[in-house]
Amino acid sequence: MKTCAIVGINWGDEGKGRMVDLLAQDYDIVVRYQGGNNAGHTVINEFGKFALNLLPSGIFRKGVINVLGNGTVVNPEHLSGEIRRLTDAGVSITPENFVISDRAVLVFPYHVALDGLEESRLADKAYGSTKRGIAPVYGDKYMKKAIHAGEILYPEKLKAHLKSVLNWKNLTIEKVYGSEPFTFEAMWSWIEEFGAKIKPFIRDSGDVLRNGKASGKSILFEAQLGALRDIDYGIYPYCSSSNPLAAYAPVGSGAPDIAVERVVGVVKAYSSCVGEGPFTAEYFGPEAERLREAGGEYGAATGRPRRVGPIDLVATRYGVKVQGATEIALTKMDVLSYMDEIPICHAYELNGEIVRDFPYHAVLADAKPVFMTMPGWKTDISGVRRYEELPKEARDYIEFVEKEIGCRMSYISVGPERDAYCVRP
Ligand code: GDP
Repeated sequence: MKTCAIVGINWGDEGKGRMVDLLAQDYDIVVRYQGGNNAGHTVINEFGKFALNLLPSGIFRKGVINVLGNGTVVNPEHLSGEIRRLTDAGVSITPENFVISDRAVLVFPYHVALDGLEESRLADKAYGSTKRGIAPVYGDKYMKKAIHAGEILYPEKLKAHLKSVLNWKNLTIEKVYGSEPFTFEAMWSWIEEFGAKIKPFIRDSGDVLRNGKASGKSILFEAQLGALRDIDYGIYPYCSSSNPLAAYAPVGSGAPDIAVERVVGVVKAYSSCVGEGPFTAEYFGPEAERLREAGGEYGAATGRPRRVGPIDLVATRYGVKVQGATEIALTKMDVLSYMDEIPICHAYELNGEIVRDFPYHAVLADAKPVFMTMPGWKTDISGVRRYEELPKEARDYIEFVEKEIGCRMSYISVGPERDAYCVRP
């Protein structure tokens, strides 16, 4: 199919980067349509191992055009660092293979500062922000106080706009938080320095997508985070400030008139979650430690240890539904190989009742997990490349999950390397 979105079904970190890296070979254009440098995709390939926070994962593939859409928020300092790390490793990044939407919103140092100030004010009630300025900058977007990447192309307009936004912003920084204001001179020299580095890539991403589509090019939309972090449909307020849903992909890319035909939902063989908020199937103590170690569950952007637990069918079913997934890629199956029995959270108990539908976010914290187990396979499956060669117990687990979530599994990933997967026949 000509258009495809790869999206997270759960809390993020499902291994989307790895799936995009794999599928990008079949697509001509790869677009990131929401979020900023608050999450990371980890990609391992012939150039090395990279945590990509902003650059689309298709950047490693020759001939692929990579786009940061208007739904993203871009920190020019961070992005130029990412570009430098990749170009140092031999990856070619030019205006021919990388485009930043002129309508993408810029993250300034004052957004990062405000994120930290607000988390400190919230103290023990903090949202678990990554403190990259993402919530403040999306807030500005909806307050109509954002500065767009395209303004870098018009320095005099940018200067006047930045001056007026900063006057307004400093009111909050000084009067609400009692912190030091940001001077215009400091912000101007910052944007002059880092804006210059990203300027060659800025243009109308809608043109790139529409012209591409007209000439028969296929488009892959790459989401950050997962369905449960969606600002509208996620576990509010423990969510992101954007829409990681497939339905938002065309809007956040620059061409709202291009429909998504195929939606690959990425599900991890167990659950993980970064930051605060209800995480019903959570494991604690040595069981959690073992799973975290086995899966290397430490944040790609922040290095924070992730919360872990068994696969959560209630949350996953909800994620499949709101993403409109047409197929599933199940990742990290190899991580479960050490377990005698594979735990599964198949329902919740809420106010004395067993529920299978994902509860309303305001009462989610009251839900308790209901666990079951299936037999483990206790053998290393990381070298398996054919579905039929997976142990019967592994196939039983996959097929059980598939039935429960009501969506076909088409890829089973058994390792982080590009070729470490089986296609479901
Ligand atoms: P994303 O944000 O959804 O792309 O996920 P992350 O990059 O944060 O997390 C995925 C991590 O798991 C990365 O370190 C990947 O290299 C790794 N990974 C992905 N798929 C597999 C797999 O099937 N097995 C193993 N062992 N690791 C995997």
